[in-house]
Amino acid sequence: MTSPIESFAELDLRAPLLAALSEIGYETPSPIQAACIPHLLAGQDLLGEAQTGTGKTAAFALPLLDRIDLSLKNPQVLVLTPTRELAIQVAEAFQSYAKKMPGFHVLPIYGGQSMVVQLRQLSRGPQVIVGTPGRVMDHIERKSLNLDGLTALVLDEADEMLRMGFIDDVEWILEHTPPTRQTALFSATMPDAIRRVAHRYLREPREVKIKASTTTVAAIRQKFCQIAVAHKLDALTRILEVEEDFDAAIIFVRTKTATVELADKLEARGYSAAALNGDMTQQLRERVVEQLKGGQLDIVIATDVAARGLDVPRISHVINYDIPYDTEAYVHRIGRTGRAGRAGSAILFVAPREMRMLKVIERATRQPIEALQLPSREAVADKRVAAFRQQVAEVLEAEDLTFFTDVVAGIESSHKADIHDVAAALAFLAQRERPLQLPTSTGPDIARLAAPRAESRSDREPRENREKILERRREFSEGHLQRYRIEVGRNQQATPKDIVGAIANEAGIESRYIGQINLYEDYSTVELPSALPHDVLDTLRRIRVKQHQLNIRPLDADEAKRDAARPRFGAGRPDKTKPAGNAAPKRYGSDKRGSTPGSFKPGKAKPRNR
Ligand code: AMP
Repeated sequence: MTSPIESFAELDLRAPLLAALSEIGYETPSPIQAACIPHLLAGQDLLGEAQTGTGKTAAFALPLLDRIDLSLKNPQVLVLTPTRELAIQVAEAFQSYAKKMPGFHVLPIYGGQSMVVQLRQLSRGPQVIVGTPGRVMDHIERKSLNLDGLTALVLDEADEMLRMGFIDDVEWILEHTPPTRQTALFSATMPDAIRRVAHRYLREPREVKIKASTTTVAAIRQKFCQIAVAHKLDALTRILEVEEDFDAAIIFVRTKTATVELADKLEARGYSAAALNGDMTQQLRERVVEQLKGGQLDIVIATDVAARGLDVPRISHVINYDIPYDTEAYVHRIGRTGRAGRAGSAILFVAPREMRMLKVIERATRQPIEALQLPSREAVADKRVAAFRQQVAEVLEAEDLTFFTDVVAGIESSHKADIHDVAAALAFLAQRERPLQLPTSTGPDIARLAAPRAESRSDREPRENREKILERRREFSEGHLQRYRIEVGRNQQATPKDIVGAIANEAGIESRYIGQINLYEDYSTVELPSALPHDVLDTLRRIRVKQHQLNIRPLDADEAKRDAARPRFGAGRPDKTKPAGNAAPKRYGSDKRGSTPGSFKPGKAKPRNR
C-alpha cells in the first residue's frame, strides 16, 4: 500500500486506542485513515468520499474517541447512519476501539427498537450515540436526547441517507445541534444534493478522496465470489481443492490476528500453510518466504504490509480473502502472481455489502471481473474420488502387496464377505481423515448461496422462468410482513443482530425486508415477507444462530395473537409509548415515518414536513 503513514503510532492517538488497535490486529492505517485522522484530530470539518471496505469507520471513530471526555456522561459524538444494521456495526466498532477506555459508553438507537429500553439506556449517559435519523429526531423532540454538549457529528453513508429520503431529517438534526460542533460527512458518491448539504453545514472542510488510480493489469485471470463472511473458509477450501493449475497461493487478510487464525485453520485441514505478518521478526518472515519458494509451504496468509515486494514465481493463485481498501492495494496484491511470465489467477471474496467496491476495482483496472461459480459439494466429491482412484492405481502399480493381499483374503473368508464390500470398507477407513463426500448436515450448499450476481443468472433463464422470477420478486417486495417463529432465543445468547445477520447474509434477504424481532427465552419471532419462496424458507430452516438451527415456521393466528400480547425481553418489549395498534409491522432498516406499515418500497415514504 502506498499510504505514507506506516503505523498508527505516527498518528498521535491516545495510548489506550493504540493498545486496542494492536490487540485487534490492525497493522497499518488504511489510506482513508491516514488521510482523515490528522484532520479530524485537529478539529477540522471533513468531507470524505469513500465506500464501505475502505476502513472509513475507524477513520472517524479513532480521532473522535481520542477527544472524548470520559468524566462527562453526556453525548459528545453523534453518528447518523442510514440503516439500523449500520448503526449497530458502527457502534460495535466504537466499542472495540474504546475497549481500553474504562467508563466509555456507546449507544446505537434505531427505529423498531423499544422506546422504553432506549430511554433507559440513554439515561445511563453514553458519550457516543449512533443512530438512524428518524429515531434520533424522536429523541431530540422528546428531549430524551440532549445534544447541548455535542462536539462532533458524523454523517455516514450520506448518499444512502439521501436515497432513502432521510435528507430533510438529517438537516433538521444538524440544525438542532450546537453550531460549534465539528462535522464530518462520508459518502461513497457525491451527488449535488450531498455537496449542497456539505456546503451549508460544513466549515471549510478538508476533502479526502481515495483515488481510484486506473491501471491495466497484466494477464492475470481475475474472478470474484460474492460470499457471506461465515462461509469464506468453506469457500476457500473448496476453491483450493478444485482449482486447476494450483501450485502455491498467497491469501490476503486484513489483520495480523487473521493471518494466524486462518493459517491454523488451513493447517488443521491438512494444508501446508503459514502466516506472514508485521509482528514476525525479519528472520522469521524470510524463512516463510524461503519455504514457500522451496515448496515446503504451499500457502501463505499475509497482510498487505508483510507481502510488500514478495516475489515468488510459483505463486499461481492470489486470494483476496478480505477485500483490499483501495484499487492500488488490489493491483499490488494480484501482482504477486503471474510472475516471470507465468499464468496467474486472482480470486476476490466480496461480502454482499462490498459489491460497490468491486465495481470501483473493475473500473480502475479497466477489466470486468468475472463471477466465479463455487464448486458444488458434488464437484468437490468428484475431485476427491478421482484423486483417490489415482492413488489406488499408483499403489497397485508400484507397491508389493503380497502381505496385504493375505490380510484381505483373511477378512474375506472369516467374515464371508463379498470382496467388493471388503474393498469398500477399506476405502471407508482410508477416507476418514478426509471424507470423499462433503457433509450435508451443515445446511444448504454454499455454492448455491454464493451464486453469481442475480442479473446474470436471470439473463440466462428462459423467458417464462424469468417472468415467474420477476413475479416472485414483485410479490416479495410488495407483500406484507408475517411473523415467523425461530428456535433460538435469549437462553441461547442470541441477539437481534445475530438473527438479522444470519437471515440477511445466509438467506440473502435484504435487511429492509426484515421486520421486528421479539426475543423470548427459548425462541424468537421475526417479521419477514409472507410471500417467502420455498427455497428461501428451506434455507432459513437450516441456518444456525449460536449453533442452533432456526427451523423457521410461520406463526399460526393464535400464536401471533399471543406473540403480540406477551411481555418480551429487551429489544422486543412492547412499546408502551406508542398508541395501540402500533403492532403493525415496522420496516426494518429504516425508521422513516409516514411509510405504510408493511409496504417495502424503499425511498417511497414521503419526507417529513417541517
Ligand atoms: P469499513 O470500511 O469501516 O466498513 O471497514 C471495513 C473493515 O476493515 C472492517 O472489518 C474493519 O475492522 C477493517 N479495518 C478497518 N481499518 C483497518 C486497518 N487499519 N487494518 C485492518 N483492518 C481494518
